[in-house]
Amino acid sequence: MTNKTITIKRPFDSHVHLRRGAVLRAVAKYTAERFGRGIIMPNTEPPIDTVEQALEYRKEILSAVSSYASVLQNTSIDTAKFEPLMTFYLTKKLSPKDIEKGASGDVCKIYAVKSYPYGATTNSQWGYRNILEAKDVLREMENVGMPLLLHGEVHLNANDEEEDPYDGEKMFIADVLPRLLDKYPKLKVSLEHMSSAEAIDFMEKNGAVDKLVTTVTPHHLMYDRRQAFSGGYRALLHCKPLVKTREDKERLLAMVKKGLPFVSAGTDTAPHPESKKFSSCCAFGVFNSPVALELYTQVFDELGCLDKLEGFLSVNGPRFFGLEPLTATITLVKEDWQVTEPVVTEEGVKIWSLCHKDHGLGNEVIHWKIKSGS
Ligand SMILES: [Zn+2]
Repeated sequence: MTNKTITIKRPFDSHVHLRRGAVLRAVAKYTAERFGRGIIMPNTEPPIDTVEQALEYRKEILSAVSSYASVLQNTSIDTAKFEPLMTFYLTKKLSPKDIEKGASGDVCKIYAVKSYPYGATTNSQWGYRNILEAKDVLREMENVGMPLLLHGEVHLNANDEEEDPYDGEKMFIADVLPRLLDKYPKLKVSLEHMSSAEAIDFMEKNGAVDKLVTTVTPHHLMYDRRQAFSGGYRALLHCKPLVKTREDKERLLAMVKKGLPFVSAGTDTAPHPESKKFSSCCAFGVFNSPVALELYTQVFDELGCLDKLEGFLSVNGPRFFGLEPLTATITLVKEDWQVTEPVVTEEGVKIWSLCHKDHGLGNEVIHWKIKSGS
């Protein structure tokens, strides 16, 4: 089936880390080529928690995506059309006034607030230890209809001891999430990058369009901890939440196959320089934007549900943020290829993508490729 193609409305990435400076300028084109819009994560250094910072960051992204003369696969897609949708980091400094300003869009429209559990992942040191302490901000978000995006893991217990990282999401689902939803019944909530059977059980029971939604990464659909430990620890698969068991992954695949309207693509692409990724303390984050759309398509093809791909990639995400799907399209073709090079910043720093031929699991082949787009 070498000529098999699929055309869908331009996708929406509900969860993307672009970083800043030279890394941003090196990686943004991969997202902008594949996705028409993206919800931009705010865990930069310093974190984004004012409309002025969000505006400055937005300008930096727009300047990067409008500067590319050519793109990776020469698809003729105009990366300058990419629209970054900005978010706030739920720091202790964030106030109800900031939420009001962000919702108004007068300086810079803010589409959501992201919560990170203190200490759990990249730049999560500014977060609340207990999200329920952010009362005034959560109340204002409920009032103005601004969604809360959750990194749903418990990292530290009451005695400040680290919990087992394989149990963090399960603990959050059992303890924190129900209390949050009870206390703020009108709050729009997205459980990001779900990875465990417990999260899937909860969402299949409680998920609702416009109210409680969830995002899924390509790596949690493709890999489990057997691959993460195959032949040694695989740094390119190291992320939070950790990839889990084969059973968890199979549950995720079964869930996306159902085409549920409250489940959407959120790549969680998270680039790190080689020095941080291949170090004695491997940084959390999978850099997948050069292959994300292709992998989602491959997974849906293998599941026999390509008819559900457009809803997952292009419709369900924007609907949660009150946006219409784009009318522009992208076409993919079933054709094998490999990632053979790193992404290199203007300073010569290498960033290795998921599925890289040498640094991934070894000689990985991707079965779908971008052909063209409008
Ligand atoms: Zn993330």
